[in-house]
Amino acid sequence: MDPRGVDPLERALHSARALVLADLIAGDVARAEVVSLVEESVSHRRWWVEQWPEGAAYVAGLVAQDVQDALMERYGRWPLCPVCSEAEGVEAESHALDVEPELGPDPHWVCGKAGVVIAAVGSLGGGRRAVGGTDTDPAGPEHGRGGRDASGEPGGAS
Ligand SMILES: [Zn+2]
Repeated sequence: MDPRGVDPLERALHSARALVLADLIAGDVARAEVVSLVEESVSHRRWWVEQWPEGAAYVAGLVAQDVQDALMERYGRWPLCPVCSEAEGVEAESHALDVEPELGPDPHWVCGKAGVVIAAVGSLGGGRRAVGGTDTDPAGPEHGRGGRDASGEPGGAS
């Protein structure tokens, strides 16, 4: 319908994907098979949002929940609540954060137990900034970017 620029639905899907991936990376669970769960959800939501374009703003929250559910079935809880897992002696049972609103714009991760908003979806890593690191990045899709390979990394001798 609108030949100019990027289709807003595509843009919403693209940003939903990026946000959820950012959170997966923050939680250090962005393995290839987990990333494909995101892809699965995004393609499902593409269909969904085509049926209901007004829902475009909700896509990020929905993808986050889809991925959360899929992870729960296959790998376990994600993302774990950082507040409760740090609280005294609560080894008992770490729990996952909830997305709120479940169906609405501007979704956030909240701790349902303490009733605290932890971070916007896509900002779970925000408070910590890139964990000092050389390691991490198990299956980084970074590879296809071809930007930073010129002659960095002087220490690769092995
Ligand atoms: Zn909690």
